[in-house]
Amino acid sequence: MESLKELYRIGRGPSSSHTIAPTRAAELFAAENPGADHFRATLCGSLSKTGRGHMTDTAILDVLGRTKCEIIFSDRPDEELPHPNTMIFEAFAADGHGMSALEVYSVGGGRIAIKGRPAEKAQDVYQLSTFEEIRDYCNQKNMRICQYVYETEGETIKEYLSEIWQQMKRTIEAGLAAEGILQGGLAVQRKARYLYRQNHIDESPQTRENRLVCAFAYAVSEENADGGTIVTAPTCGASGVLPATLYYMQQYRRLPDEKIIDALATAGIIGNLIKTNASISGAECGCQAEVGSACSMAAAGLSELFGMEIDQIEYAAEVAMEHHLGLTCDPISGLVQIPCIERNAVAAMRAMNALSLANFLTHTRKISFDVVVKTMYETGRDLFSKYRETSEGGLAKTYFE
Ligand code: SF4
Repeated sequence: MESLKELYRIGRGPSSSHTIAPTRAAELFAAENPGADHFRATLCGSLSKTGRGHMTDTAILDVLGRTKCEIIFSDRPDEELPHPNTMIFEAFAADGHGMSALEVYSVGGGRIAIKGRPAEKAQDVYQLSTFEEIRDYCNQKNMRICQYVYETEGETIKEYLSEIWQQMKRTIEAGLAAEGILQGGLAVQRKARYLYRQNHIDESPQTRENRLVCAFAYAVSEENADGGTIVTAPTCGASGVLPATLYYMQQYRRLPDEKIIDALATAGIIGNLIKTNASISGAECGCQAEVGSACSMAAAGLSELFGMEIDQIEYAAEVAMEHHLGLTCDPISGLVQIPCIERNAVAAMRAMNALSLANFLTHTRKISFDVVVKTMYETGRDLFSKYRETSEGGLAKTYFE
């Protein structure tokens, strides 16, 4: 498995596959064609169907130039595409002569693959690639999952995770401070600030906890929807779940940053296992791969914060994923707003619930984390393409009927 630096990336929302990866692809193409007079970028598959709502065109134009680049939203059938997120870049000389072309695939989590070139693959730093292997290794050496991360990646990974945590906090604070309507045309009102400021005298501690966790998840997801800076955890669309739960715990239980770093490391292993053995891409496996994965990461991170045993961490992560199985990706108008923002908040609460169950029921479990990850992948591959980030099914369809 790769470094956690490949999983947690700071970037521009609203979509790792639709903004971060296309930005990287456009930067690469521009760097390879410094003498080009103008460009054309053709977006296919999910990038075509939901690219406008996901601001893919804006991300590419910001790199290649609004006056120098033409964007084509292709209607090529999905079956003809080598990957559901395909983009073709072309560079032209001033006389219109084609100089070069590049076919690029956005393969999830902000990563790209290029046709005819070796896959962009970061070095594998983790030799173990299943939860079972990691659990056995940690048990043998009497170490926690976060210690396995530090042993494998070196202590410097803590500095990286600290930067990630600082950005997560900045995003929450920016989201809590913002008001108004999100761009995109659906007239979705920002709600994080409103939720955060409610404070009824008779509010129960449980209601207050839910409200605040939701406010923090809304804050991140609204920033993401508005093209703000977020941390992929594991993706942009699901970026609100993990920071919301950790921020709540830090704020209201006065936990030091060091504990949060340990939780990020533990959550990162869970995200990495899902990325390696299944997928974290909504275009590939639906929302179960994005928000389901984020919930699983958050449940594991919370379990680490509470010093739970490795079996309990596994159970919490497994429960969190299991009850997202089959979750489709159906964003209305291709915007990462409905159902995405609210879904992050619900998943954050669900992660807290998974933590509670892990406290009591771990010894009763029958499903392992590795099994639920395999199940998620098979379920995702079986989903019709209309439920995999194409905005052709589910809410995206019935909302307009
Ligand atoms: S429905 Fe889920 S996977 Fe699809 S865009 Fe929204 S958050 Fe991402």
